[in-house]
Amino acid sequence: AYTSTALGVEPSKLEIQHAPQLKPKPDPSELRVFGKIVTDHMLSVPWNVLTGWGTPRIHPFGKVLLDPHASVLNFAQTCFEGFKAYRTPSGKVALFRPDMNMKRMQTSAGRATLPQFDGEAMLELIKQLVRLEKDWVPSKPGYSLYVRPLLIGTEGTLVVNPPSDALLTVICCPVGPYYPEGFKPIALYGTTEFIRAAPGGIGSYKLGANYVTGLVAAKEAAKHGCPQNLWLQGPNHLVTEVGTMNAMAVFKHPDGTIELATAPLDGMILPGVTRNSVLALAREHASGNSRIEGLPDNFVVSEREIPMKEVQEAAKAGALVEFFGTGTAAVISPVNRIRYLDEDVHIPTGPDGMGPVSKSLWQRLVAIQTGAIEHSWSVVV
Ligand code: PMP
Repeated sequence: AYTSTALGVEPSKLEIQHAPQLKPKPDPSELRVFGKIVTDHMLSVPWNVLTGWGTPRIHPFGKVLLDPHASVLNFAQTCFEGFKAYRTPSGKVALFRPDMNMKRMQTSAGRATLPQFDGEAMLELIKQLVRLEKDWVPSKPGYSLYVRPLLIGTEGTLVVNPPSDALLTVICCPVGPYYPEGFKPIALYGTTEFIRAAPGGIGSYKLGANYVTGLVAAKEAAKHGCPQNLWLQGPNHLVTEVGTMNAMAVFKHPDGTIELATAPLDGMILPGVTRNSVLALAREHASGNSRIEGLPDNFVVSEREIPMKEVQEAAKAGALVEFFGTGTAAVISPVNRIRYLDEDVHIPTGPDGMGPVSKSLWQRLVAIQTGAIEHSWSVVV
């Protein structure tokens, strides 16, 4: 019954209450911590099981008032999204593939028995918010405005049920580059004592519950001097994700083929928008449809299981070309070392911290995101 009033998000009913005073825009140096600084306004859309989606409101950024027995606080009835608005060379503001995030949020909401919504209508409201906050979109290269939609169950009840009430909020945070001084490869701690996901579990959904359980692994990684962990799934220690990024490895095979490999979407992998975009660009190159400078000619792209043992052996044999993470925040994050069962697996990185495959893909992707290259993925607000 909780999905019966899925419709009713109505952009035409949007009410806008302007902030009486606008905050000064931050200096780029203040954006070193991700998502601390917020813009002047936010979007709120309430939902009720009987009346559906209520009046959408853009209003001054402020606190959300909840009952202590709100279902989100007790049972983690929460899912969220994250994508970026970029300043294009002509001064416009463009979102990167926001339709993918809306779709993923609907999937996540379904898994958490949170209400469904019309993705296009919701995106229209988000565009209105970003338009209002357009002066917050930095023009400095590597900077952007991060958009964070959040959907929570707000019913005050201790009964574990799909919530009768929910709230969707969207906030925006100006963010800087993950690597302000150029690419800095990171070391990963191969996590084998905890798992991130399980068959039939929630690993492929962007639910808050996925992130709290990951923190303990991140803490363990830090103890070993690694800034992030690598999730090694199951008895074969399959490479699945890098902290909160998708994982990609590049192998050189005896016949000279260069393979870009990542874990398949088997229900335990978050279907990253960056992952999807990197794979699509790589496949266009591999098929010869749209060549990317710097990528090898004999190039194959695969979604397949990658046992950590294969990565380790390839590294020893000099057949591991690169290893990196992909995600909205850092776009591409090169890895130079993996701590695996008391051994170090060393991974080559290029002279500027990034290998040839990831660098070529990164350049193309960022050119599309920032509107330097025109592409249907870039959506002007
Ligand atoms: N894996 C996990 C667990 C994540 O939280 C994210 C960030 N959403 C990603 C991968 C990368 O996804 P995206 O490229 O859509 O940011």
